[in-house]
Amino acid sequence: MSNGDGDHERYAHYVQKDKIMESALSGSPVVALCGKVWVPGRDPKKYPVCPMCKEIFEGMNTGGDKGKDGKGGDKKSVSYTHL
Ligand SMILES: [Zn+2]
Repeated sequence: MSNGDGDHERYAHYVQKDKIMESALSGSPVVALCGKVWVPGRDPKKYPVCPMCKEIFEGMNTGGDKGKDGKGGDKKSVSYTHL
């Protein structure tokens, strides 16, 4: 709970592409994988990828061994990008 409110200014965070498009249309803030909420609007290429987002993102891709028996099943593949 330190004062980390500037993190989204220094990192590129992973966000669902759908949400980004939504945000671009409505101007509403996006929520990154790490929980960061902000309104995008700068060049993500200038920033390193947020380590927390990266960790979560990689965990989602590689850990396919939970809850595969029964419920769910139609998990759409969601694309993420960082910004
Ligand atoms: Zn992040």
